[in-house]
Amino acid sequence: MAIRKRIRATEMIPQDLLNILACPICKGDLLYDSKRDILLCQECKVYYPVEEDIPILLRDYARPLEELSKDPSRL
Ligand SMILES: [Zn+2]
Repeated sequence: MAIRKRIRATEMIPQDLLNILACPICKGDLLYDSKRDILLCQECKVYYPVEEDIPILLRDYARPLEELSKDPSRL
């Protein structure tokens, strides 16, 4: 049961995929925030949405990280 739970927790974005994902702006590594279901770039201070398990890694979709703290519904 414990193993099953662990798989479900990482199901949203597989680690393999995460490893090859890069920020479209700086080409740096991205962090996955499973609570908010977003990918964030600490380098650019932006985040990218994840829609239907597909990260939208487009420059046009980059949102400032500050927005997360302004909007309490996303926390
Ligand atoms: Zn970046």
